[in-house]
Amino acid sequence: MPAPAALLHSTPEARAGAVLTVDLAALVENWRLLKRKAAPACDMGAVVKADAYGLGLEPVARALKAAGCATFYVAHLDEGLALRPIVGPEPRVVVMHGPNPGTERDFAGQRLIPVLSTPQQVKAWGSFAQANDVLMESLVQIDTGMNRLGLTESEFAGLMNDPDGFAGLTPLALMSHLAVAETPAHGLNAQQRARFASALSTFRLKFGDAKGSLANSAGIFLGTGFQYDFARPGAALYGVNPNPDGPNPMIPVVRLQAKILQVRRVDAPSPVGYGATFQAPDGAKLATVSMGYADGLLRSWGAGGHGHVDDVKVPVAGRVSMDLTTFDVSAVAASSLGPGAMVDIIGSRQSVDDLAAASGTIGYEILTALGRRYHRRYLPAPAAARK
Ligand SMILES: *Cc1c(COP(=O)(O)O)cnc(C)c1O
Repeated sequence: MPAPAALLHSTPEARAGAVLTVDLAALVENWRLLKRKAAPACDMGAVVKADAYGLGLEPVARALKAAGCATFYVAHLDEGLALRPIVGPEPRVVVMHGPNPGTERDFAGQRLIPVLSTPQQVKAWGSFAQANDVLMESLVQIDTGMNRLGLTESEFAGLMNDPDGFAGLTPLALMSHLAVAETPAHGLNAQQRARFASALSTFRLKFGDAKGSLANSAGIFLGTGFQYDFARPGAALYGVNPNPDGPNPMIPVVRLQAKILQVRRVDAPSPVGYGATFQAPDGAKLATVSMGYADGLLRSWGAGGHGHVDDVKVPVAGRVSMDLTTFDVSAVAASSLGPGAMVDIIGSRQSVDDLAAASGTIGYEILTALGRRYHRRYLPAPAAARK
């Protein structure tokens, strides 16, 4: 436990080894951009699972709610329970993993909307609703080609053909998830959409006013035919490119800067870091920052990765260690390496997607791996821009 703040003489920012800046105005701008991409009747929600992709559930959800977002999606019940007091009673909170056995009462208590993905969940929720006489909405998820989560084609057909199959349910929507939405030319997109459209029309024979929900971030960009009634964007809100083969239409939301702890010059060719995998040439200038793999930098980024000091690209020198990473800053002027100097890891010269590509992964993994030791700075959404 840290000492109580009142007993300390320094600010959290002064104590931290790195600074993570989250631009809530950019986040809100991205949500609006997605909303403009969709038909006016489409409910543009926000996926805020995994602590809003690592950026902080509370500030992110507050900013989006203030901008008019009325439907939030999380993965776990506990995430829904955490979100309810943040957004207040009105917004829909959809829990995508649905109720684990015995948790139904806690969904109902906080008006959390479960996604039902197995016959067992459908049955348990239906029985709970009937036994307690609650008319709580749910979403029913079907699998349309990803084989990850959702009723299989035959499970769905079985429930549809059984007069008591969906007994007790008040479905808000039928839902499915796209496997290859960020590859628009892939044939599976059209296949999934066709299966979804057909299942939705069958579902509506039982539940006339059931809506549809299919699109994640990239799905929204596949066009209005994929958007249906409830869109579920996550990554694009946080600045990740929803169509990786083209320019990024989203605004960057995240900046990550690591404080330089020490600068040294080597006066002979010398190894750097664990394993001595990197040889710094004679005269090289090295800067070690207060950030490592415990903070979400991937070890696989070490070979070939780089940051920036001002406009100068600085290669990672050697391996990323748990709390420290060293850069070759030979090309950086001494005046840029004074007290308080930082290395830009994510910023205007290296996007989340760039850092991910250099680490052999995707922006989603970079964001959700972001560490807990950063000082987090939130740039507010301008009040004037709120609706
Ligand atoms: C995570 C998730 C989303 C959001 O996907 P993005 O690609 O981040 O927009 C939408 N739907 C489901 C079912 C998810 O699990």
